[in-house]
Amino acid sequence: MAIIERCHSIEKSNTLEMSLSLCTKTLCRYFTNNSRTKLINKLSRSSSTFLRNSITYKTVLTKWEDQDLKVPKLVTFLTARKSSTQVMGALSPLDPSSFSRPELAIIKHASLSLNIDFESKVLNGDAILNFDVLEDIGELVLDISSLSIESVELDNGTKLKFDIGEPVPNFGSKLTISLPNQALVGEKLKVKIKYATAPTASALQWLEPNQTSGKKHPYLFSQCQPIHARSIVPCQDTPAVKFTYDAEVTAPEEFTVLMSALRGEVRSNRTTFRQPVPIPSYLLAIAVGVLEQRSLGPRSLVWSEKEEIERSAWEFAETEKYLQAAENLCGPYVWTQYDLLVLPPSFPYGGMENPCLTFVTPTLLAGDRSQADVIVHEIMHSWTGNLVTNKNFEHFWLNEGFTVFLERKVGASLISDPVEAKKSRDFHSLLGLQELSEAVNQELGVDNQLTRLVVDLNAVHPDDAFSTVPYEKGSLFLRYLEDLLGGPGEN
Ligand SMILES: [Zn+2]
Repeated sequence: MAIIERCHSIEKSNTLEMSLSLCTKTLCRYFTNNSRTKLINKLSRSSSTFLRNSITYKTVLTKWEDQDLKVPKLVTFLTARKSSTQVMGALSPLDPSSFSRPELAIIKHASLSLNIDFESKVLNGDAILNFDVLEDIGELVLDISSLSIESVELDNGTKLKFDIGEPVPNFGSKLTISLPNQALVGEKLKVKIKYATAPTASALQWLEPNQTSGKKHPYLFSQCQPIHARSIVPCQDTPAVKFTYDAEVTAPEEFTVLMSALRGEVRSNRTTFRQPVPIPSYLLAIAVGVLEQRSLGPRSLVWSEKEEIERSAWEFAETEKYLQAAENLCGPYVWTQYDLLVLPPSFPYGGMENPCLTFVTPTLLAGDRSQADVIVHEIMHSWTGNLVTNKNFEHFWLNEGFTVFLERKVGASLISDPVEAKKSRDFHSLLGLQELSEAVNQELGVDNQLTRLVVDLNAVHPDDAFSTVPYEKGSLFLRYLEDLLGGPGEN
């Protein structure tokens, strides 16, 4: 995931929609321009929970739509909100943020068959989950959040009993599936779950036509990181579990469906996908809109609404160059396709490294290719994060610290003069150090446990732990080690 370091449009575009894309603490903490700091800090402090809280998020969007709210009102609105996270302990032994028990039986593959219903703002269909049984067990435990479960059955058609635990605010519920007979170590199980998502699913953002550039059609996009995949599919929603997936998605014919996977056949209203590289649940992603595409290179397309497509194609024309520079440092790119999707302005991050299809904010369309570092950051996640992954979000610095470290190394490798390259890398590291120092000393406080590289998420939602610390403290630690010991690409 990336934040953007500056924004070109906040002054001229102070609608709530734009503010939403700016006012997550992630983005806000990356503003350094003094003239904006006050507003941004205010938004930042008050918005730490809104991103994961779909009700709030949607209320904000609805209010914007109804009243054309401007930024000052948004500040009041968000300031009035308080976190609703319940203080509690770890949800399971391996991952404090997941109910699931992958140490007993682990998902290896998921087959999704989903229908997109823009009218009722739900996805419905089924998920077939393939498990490897690792211990003798009588039940399976999964994460769900606001899902309506219609039925659960084995692949031979045997109906299975299931129980949905009391929901924990913002963490969802435990789905316990009882097996008819004990499953033994080494067995494989295939379980089909018929279900529907809720209109409030925390991973999904349903945009009305007037929240898009074209203003004519609705739009849907997801953001599953860190623990929102459970609101769109029953799963082991922990990065400790990696699985391949295939999907078949039905949407009205004029829409394009994209996922974090290789796109297969498109037949009238049905699109198929396959992701042959195992991924953690937080990298599941879907976007549905009336979209166009342009080629960026031999393995890259850029997708967006038609209003942004030419600007997007120009802005990201150097994508293949960045991919090659990344491969020079990290080895072959294994995901086959590297596409970009430029989202409507309410996308809450600078970028999200969804495999095969990076999601980016349109605020990167600066007109001067100056936001390339965000693309390089997302490309680097193809190795760090997406291939080598933190086992749970207490270790998020492993994803982001390594990615920022590589982003700056690869960024410097694109500069031919070695002296200038080193200067550029040092400059970005110093900016990072300054941001880290502000975050630790002014925002979090030096005694805050969230300033550690490895945080304790036993009573903390991963969204609330999010800050510049894993990015900058992580990458500076690696830079320190490299300066001490040397590293790849060093002469
Ligand atoms: Zn990132």
